[in-house]
Amino acid sequence: MNETLPSSKRNFIQHIIDKDVKSFENQKSIMTRFPPEPNGHLHIGHAKSMCLNFGLAKEYGGICNLRFDDTNPTTENKEYVESIKDDVKWLGFDISNETYYASDYFSILFDFAVKLIKEGKAFVDSQPPETIRSQRGSLQKPGSNSPFRDRDVNTNLDLFHRMREGEFKEGEHILRAKIDMSSPNMNMRDPALYRIREKDHYRTGNQWNIYPMYDFTQCLSDAIEGVTHSICTLEFEDHRPLYDWVIENVETSNRPKQIEFARLEIDYSITSKRKLLSLVEEGNVSGWDDPRLQTIKGMRRRGYPPEAIKNFCELIGITKKQAVIDLSTLENCVREELDKKAPRIMAVLDPLKVIIKNFPGNTSEQLNAPNHPKDSTFGERKLPITKEIYIERSDFMEEPPKKFHRLSPGKKVRLRYAFVIRCEEIVKDENGTVQELHCSYDSSTYNGKNPEDGKVKGIIHWVSAEKNIPIQARLFDRLFTVPNPNGEEDFRKFLNPKSLEIKNHGLAEISLKSSKHSQFQFERTGYFSLDKKESTNDKLVYNRTTTLRDSWLKEQKK
Ligand code: ATP
Ligand code: MG
Repeated sequence: MNETLPSSKRNFIQHIIDKDVKSFENQKSIMTRFPPEPNGHLHIGHAKSMCLNFGLAKEYGGICNLRFDDTNPTTENKEYVESIKDDVKWLGFDISNETYYASDYFSILFDFAVKLIKEGKAFVDSQPPETIRSQRGSLQKPGSNSPFRDRDVNTNLDLFHRMREGEFKEGEHILRAKIDMSSPNMNMRDPALYRIREKDHYRTGNQWNIYPMYDFTQCLSDAIEGVTHSICTLEFEDHRPLYDWVIENVETSNRPKQIEFARLEIDYSITSKRKLLSLVEEGNVSGWDDPRLQTIKGMRRRGYPPEAIKNFCELIGITKKQAVIDLSTLENCVREELDKKAPRIMAVLDPLKVIIKNFPGNTSEQLNAPNHPKDSTFGERKLPITKEIYIERSDFMEEPPKKFHRLSPGKKVRLRYAFVIRCEEIVKDENGTVQELHCSYDSSTYNGKNPEDGKVKGIIHWVSAEKNIPIQARLFDRLFTVPNPNGEEDFRKFLNPKSLEIKNHGLAEISLKSSKHSQFQFERTGYFSLDKKESTNDKLVYNRTTTLRDSWLKEQKK
């Protein structure tokens, strides 16, 4: 157990488990589980759940099972299973143990249902779904009993077996628990346990024509595996009495405990698989791995390190109070990790040519540049400088405002790791667009030395025009224009049309080619990661993982 944390820093689930383990006999340890449904890919919310479940197991010397909650043959498939496993591993959670599947328990669950029927605790209802719905009542009004509620056990058993054999169509019969139609908790009003689905299941094929409901499956799967603490999100709080009812009435030897916590919600983001799927299917994003999505695949492709995602989950903590977290909190965690990990290089995204008139032609001098300002273990690199270079177009202004410390006519600026240049002349095309700048350089200003006629404040990045690597850079903004797209009736109406900006003419310094890294800080423009999916031998694509500072709010106010 992690006893280094003061008790006030421990979350409420740790407090519960602290108490529970005291009553454990002998060698017993805790068991948690992470139970994704393979009907989509994982997102940042699932990362929070994994950090919690795998984290607790590790802390208390227990086990966390990866279990696929696969009871709906209509929406689940094997590709999702493989992809989810891949994402869990990428995040760094150990799933070398057995993987569990709720579908492996179909036979046992069937037997449990038969047991409930025999004890008069479950019955087959043969009313149409709409009628059943209309009898449910409301929060103010109790429900009414189904006329089939008192069917005798043998009829129930016969019908249930024939449901299994596929004699009936979907909706003709369902199996319901017999609890209490007047319970103030709607979940206890004779909830459905099994329904007919005339669909093949991706694992059990055509073996089954009936499939167990979530409320019947989840608790019993937990009990079968020996889960001690079954942690889920708050919307299941009202299902807990049913969870406990099933466990109690099936009389399993294990009695898992359900605990609920607040689900993770992040502003400007979608964390619902259903909505994510619709964004993908309608082509609003390029796929589940679109770097603008907070899916594990999207964040991975964008270059978020797994440690950053885990640090974020740790930072926001576990509570029972629903809150919306700022996306910038996640981005800050990413910056922090990349600051440590990413070597620095220079790249110009919107190139503007500069000719250094008094620089000797045909020569290329080699400058030395450190790869990391704070960590000398990253070493140094050689940086070629030539008569013609490129600078960022936004680092030049013909008519600059007062505090513009970059390049403008007659003004000086330092080229990073090189020397000071002065802008002597502007060359424009017929439309008046600046084509190139003619500058002079001061050879006495190498190595940070300042010119005699005063300090030069601005330092800009640059790339040799002769020796460079062309790149495409993809810059991202929030995918939505409103902080809470989830709360909108149609979240698609609030897609940000400017969420992707592609820079096709980027140039990076030559050392990019020989570097063993795939993530860099491009000095002054952000952290960038190689997009392995889009890059080819002839075209390198870099995704901007984050900007260097949290400039987003400021940009919004402009
Ligand atoms: P979605 O709404 O995205 O479909 P889900 O809960 O249906 O989510 P599951 O595959 O059933 O998705 O989730 C697996 C586990 O991850 C569950 O235990 C669930 O509680 C947890 N989980 C899902 N979304 C979040 C979230 N936003 N925050 C915390 N935990 C989550
Ligand atoms: Mg679910």
